[in-house]
Amino acid sequence: MIKKILIICAFVALAACARNPVTGENELHLISQDQEVQMGEEQYPYMVQAQGGSYVLYPNVDSYVNAVGQKLARVSDRPDLPYDFTVINDSVPNAWALPGGKIAINRGLLVHLENEAELAAVLAHEIVHAAARHTAQQLEQGMLINIGIAGIAQSTQGTAPSGLLDMGGNLIQMNYSRSAESEADHYGMIYMQRAGYDPEAAVTLQELFMKFSGSSAFSAGLFASHPASAQRVEDNKKMAAQLEKGGFLGEEQYKRNIASVVEAEPAYEYLDKAFKAYSNKNYSEAIRYSDQGIAKLPIEAKFYIVRGAAKDRINQNDTAKQDYTKAISLDPTYYLGYLQRGMLYRETGQYKKAKSDLTASARLLPTSTAINALKAMPR
Ligand SMILES: [Zn+2]
Repeated sequence: MIKKILIICAFVALAACARNPVTGENELHLISQDQEVQMGEEQYPYMVQAQGGSYVLYPNVDSYVNAVGQKLARVSDRPDLPYDFTVINDSVPNAWALPGGKIAINRGLLVHLENEAELAAVLAHEIVHAAARHTAQQLEQGMLINIGIAGIAQSTQGTAPSGLLDMGGNLIQMNYSRSAESEADHYGMIYMQRAGYDPEAAVTLQELFMKFSGSSAFSAGLFASHPASAQRVEDNKKMAAQLEKGGFLGEEQYKRNIASVVEAEPAYEYLDKAFKAYSNKNYSEAIRYSDQGIAKLPIEAKFYIVRGAAKDRINQNDTAKQDYTKAISLDPTYYLGYLQRGMLYRETGQYKKAKSDLTASARLLPTSTAINALKAMPR
C-alpha cells in the first residue's frame, strides 16, 4: 500500500505526500489542513441544526463538555486544530466529528455515561477521527476514484476541486472503515492517558455500547457510524493492559455537571413520544404528550414546535402560530420553529411574515422546504 502511494506521489509532483499526523504512515494528501478546517467550519452549524440544534437549555453542560474535550485536544497529535465540542438537543445516543475538529455529542448519550472518563473516551475517539484525517481520507479516496491522476494534479494547484468544499445542503457522511474505528479507539486511549484519565473507561464504554447495541435508538445513532462489537471490547482491554493503571474517573464531577440533563430526562420521554405520535398522524396524542412534557419542562422549545405542528394539522392555525412563536422566543437559535411558522404564514397568505421566517430558517439550515417555498413565494 505504502509503495503504491509513493509511486502515485512520484507521478503527481504537486500532490502533497505527507505523514499521517496520528499514525505516522505515508499518505497522499489531496486535501490541505486549511481545506479540512474550512469544510468543518462550513458544515458544523448546519450539521448541528440538522441533528437537533444546540442544547441551549443548560449552557453549563455545554461548557463542561467543551472543557473536557479541549483538555484532550491539547494533548492530541494535532493540538493546533480549531476544536469545538458541543451538546446537541437530541435523545438518540450519538456523537460525531467533522474535519478540522468540530465535534458533537447528543444529550441522549450523556445520560448513559457513568463518569467523566467515559465522556473523555467518547470525545477522544472523535478527536482521533478528526486528527487522523479519517473523513478527509475518505473524500480523498473518492477523489482518486472519481477524477483520476490528471484531475488530482490540477486540483492540487491552489484551489480545491469544485464540489468538494461547496457541498451546500449535502452534509458530510460519516461511515468510517473498521480500521479507522480501531485507530480511533487505540489512539483515543492514549490521549485519555495523556490527559490524566483512566483508559479503563474506554473498556466500560464499549461494554455499555454492547449492552445497548440491540436497542433501536442506539442503532439509529452512534452505531450507524461506530458499530459496537465484542472485538472492540477485547481490543480496548488489551490496550488498557499496555497502558499505565489508574487515572481520573470523575464520577462525582460528571454526575454533578450533567445533573440538569438527567433530571430533564422524563420530560424528554414525553417529547420523543409526542414526535412519534405526530409522525404517526396521531395529532391529539401528540398534543397530549406535549402538554405533559410542558408541565415538566416548560422552558424546552421543542414541545411547542411539535404541539404547534399537531395543531397546525388539525387546522387550529392561531394557536399553532402562538406555539411556534413561543418556541422561537425560547430558542431563537433553532431553525425548525421559524420553518414551521413560516410555512403556516405562507399557507394563510401572510407572505411578508412568511418570507421573513423562511429566510431566518434557511440561514440556520438551508432545507429544500424553505428554499423551494421562498422561490415560489408570490410578491
Ligand atoms: Zn468512530
